[in-house]
Amino acid sequence: MYNVKSMKAEEFINDEEIKRCLAYAEKNKSNRELIDSILEKARKMKGVSHEEALVLLDCDLEDKNQEIYALAREIKEEFYGNRIVMFAPLYLSNYCVNGCEYCPYHAKNKHIRRVKLTQEQIVAEVTALQDMGHKRLAIESGEDPVNNPIEYILECIKTIYSIKHKNGAIRRVNVNIAATTVENYKKLADAGIGTYILFQETYNKESYEKLHPTGPKHDYAYHTEAMDRAMEGGIDDVGLGVLYGLNNYRYDFAGIIMHAEHLEAVHGVGPHTISVPRVRRADDIDPDVFDNGISDDLFAKLVACIRIAVPYTGMIVSTRESKECRERVLSLGISQISGGSRTSVGGYVEEEAEEDNSAQFDVSDRRTLDEVVNWLMRLNYIPSFCTACYREGRTGDRFMTLLKSKQIINCCHPNALMTLKEYLEDYASEDTKMIGEELIKKELLKITNPKVLEKATEYIDNIHLGKRDFRF
Ligand code: SF4
Ligand code: SF4
Repeated sequence: MYNVKSMKAEEFINDEEIKRCLAYAEKNKSNRELIDSILEKARKMKGVSHEEALVLLDCDLEDKNQEIYALAREIKEEFYGNRIVMFAPLYLSNYCVNGCEYCPYHAKNKHIRRVKLTQEQIVAEVTALQDMGHKRLAIESGEDPVNNPIEYILECIKTIYSIKHKNGAIRRVNVNIAATTVENYKKLADAGIGTYILFQETYNKESYEKLHPTGPKHDYAYHTEAMDRAMEGGIDDVGLGVLYGLNNYRYDFAGIIMHAEHLEAVHGVGPHTISVPRVRRADDIDPDVFDNGISDDLFAKLVACIRIAVPYTGMIVSTRESKECRERVLSLGISQISGGSRTSVGGYVEEEAEEDNSAQFDVSDRRTLDEVVNWLMRLNYIPSFCTACYREGRTGDRFMTLLKSKQIINCCHPNALMTLKEYLEDYASEDTKMIGEELIKKELLKITNPKVLEKATEYIDNIHLGKRDFRF
């Protein structure tokens, strides 16, 4: 039985309920009256249900689809303005005991080079990331209780936060590691992590079990209930994601919206972020063997419908996607992107030779961080290196209240300009600096609160004089 408040995976992500909604959406994909009523509700920007969101996803009326895209753009603008938060992934170890069929780190892959960073190597990687200008990392590691126990992850987090190189600092470490116990989540919370990210891969239990034939990840319920344990362990901000291409996208879209509804119903806090990765080619992985690949058009529609269904959530797209594809989805809902990413262990210090092949997936967008920042500004976005909320204790329900009431914008906008200014002073190329200074001048004029404007201007002047780390 479907029960949004149940703590059992098979009840809050209920197969029967998803199938019922899939049939309902299929039947109503041209139902103009119903689609209009859902859009009317969505315009209030408080979200729509998984059933309603599926109808929008399936909608095959061209004029209504244009309305869907326009509304997604409006919601994005309302909650996130033109700011795009920047981050980079950092791969710690690719030792893994699981058998995930879509990932080259699966235990049976014997020809991939296995690497686990030492603390010295982490210092070198993080220094390289700081020298690019990054302030926010997402650390990634395979699941291996012998090689990558929680103590190793905690030690890495401590090392990362301790490195101060020139004006560089990593101010927020998000963590993407395997589902674990409440006790371990408590340890991560105590280590001061930002968001705990865990991709569900697919919400379809049958496909999930086939795709994860061996290892602890095979346990669908343990994996799906991980976010509840994370929140019980004191982690306020959690990030969801589905790996599109593995299973039917409509099923997984319904699943992720239901998961968001469940977190909100039980914990009063929905997902901090939703990521939208697609299966990519990698060592020992051919994406063509999964016959659920989605086109760029469908991908854009998915992003728009998630934005409408969960208006407050941050949305992340990585360098798995090409420049063109990223450009298209930025306006439809994406609020965070990675830049200058290396997806191999140790890849920031030394880009690995092709035959070594320890990368988790092929990167489509291979531009440097400076090129990405430059490109964003030319598209009229403000690249933001802000990490203020977690450091000011604005997490969980406190953060969500500010976000939903749209008050957070009073912090995000000046913080984006100040952290961009830091980037321009310390890391930008001449051209990027020139565009950035102009952008900051123009954007400062949009601050309507005179006190905030005065402070922001003062902070920006101080950054020019060599001071760092101001925040609202
Ligand atoms: Fe291991 Fe994660 Fe890759 Fe699965 S997806 S093989 S758990 S690293
Ligand atoms: Fe994110 Fe908070 Fe900074 Fe806004 S102020 S960009 S929500 S960390």
